[in-house]
Amino acid sequence: MNIEPTFREQLIDAGILIPLGVDGVWGRNGVFEAICAGLEHAISEAGLNDAPEVMRFPPAMPQDYFEKSGYMKNFPHFAGTIHSFDGDERGQHKLLGQMARGEPWMEQQQPAGLVLTPAACYSVYPTLARRGPLANVGALVDVYCWCFRHEPSLEPTRFQFFRMREFVRVGTVAQVMAFREDWVARGKVFATSLGIPFEVDIANDPFFGRGGKLMADSQREQALKFELLVPINEGAGPTACMSFNYHMTHFGETWDMRTEDGEVAHTACIGFGIERLALAMLRHHGFDLDLWPVDVRAFMGFGTKVSKSVGSVDAVEA
Ligand code: AMP
Ligand code: ZN
Repeated sequence: MNIEPTFREQLIDAGILIPLGVDGVWGRNGVFEAICAGLEHAISEAGLNDAPEVMRFPPAMPQDYFEKSGYMKNFPHFAGTIHSFDGDERGQHKLLGQMARGEPWMEQQQPAGLVLTPAACYSVYPTLARRGPLANVGALVDVYCWCFRHEPSLEPTRFQFFRMREFVRVGTVAQVMAFREDWVARGKVFATSLGIPFEVDIANDPFFGRGGKLMADSQREQALKFELLVPINEGAGPTACMSFNYHMTHFGETWDMRTEDGEVAHTACIGFGIERLALAMLRHHGFDLDLWPVDVRAFMGFGTKVSKSVGSVDAVEA
């Protein structure tokens, strides 16, 4: 019997995803990165006319930002904290012995004052808040960050480390709602230009614990989150590749962000899951970028022969 390899197996066989032996943690090859760079380009183009302020942050945030964000109230199961060695030479000797014997060795690791960033927009709010009241036009930020969520999975679309590009809007309720509504429509145009099938649906975040169900229900009832979903994994439901979130005054209150007239600011963010969009395109256009539809390649800013420039043998020989 000839069993068709799964999408995950195909990605590994083609060298596109490089297994590291930990579920949801992958290396990526040049083909994958070329798609990610193309998406970056296409997203920048899509947002260009709005002239967003560009902010880039490292993949970790200060512990106090993280604590104040309230993330542990809602998603403690996803958080990744950073610790580093805090002992002396004797301590190091002890640790090396423990490691060699296969024993636990983490007791001398102390919090480094940093937490892995769980969502790109989290560093934006305290940054804007420090500036004082917003201008009357509010704020619009383009942010891009590696994110971490501890959600090991065999599904190739669920990474522990992944990149999130976001447009973040802060302002009055009218400004923020108009932004999100506009982007739900623009998100559909964007996905159409990528040439992938999709649907947009109301969604909820995976809140932790028994109270989490109530939070999720209320998020749905108030239509606070929409997702753009793409069929990617065989035998599973479609995967959220973009999110359209309205946080009401949650971050405004948390960080005391104020509009020009002193009201608590509202916020919304549009998140592009770069890895998931890349996988969606590989799924629907195949693994050879040179064979992708011409208009899709143009939208991604690809030159004539992308695959030759991303580390293929031909590129080395040329
Ligand atoms: P969220 O903050 O959960 O709405 O996430 C924003 C976007 O990041 C989602 O629309 C996904 O495209 C992407 N994303 C979320 N979690 C993961 C994950 N575990 N692996 C890859 N992409 C993810
Ligand atoms: Zn966000």
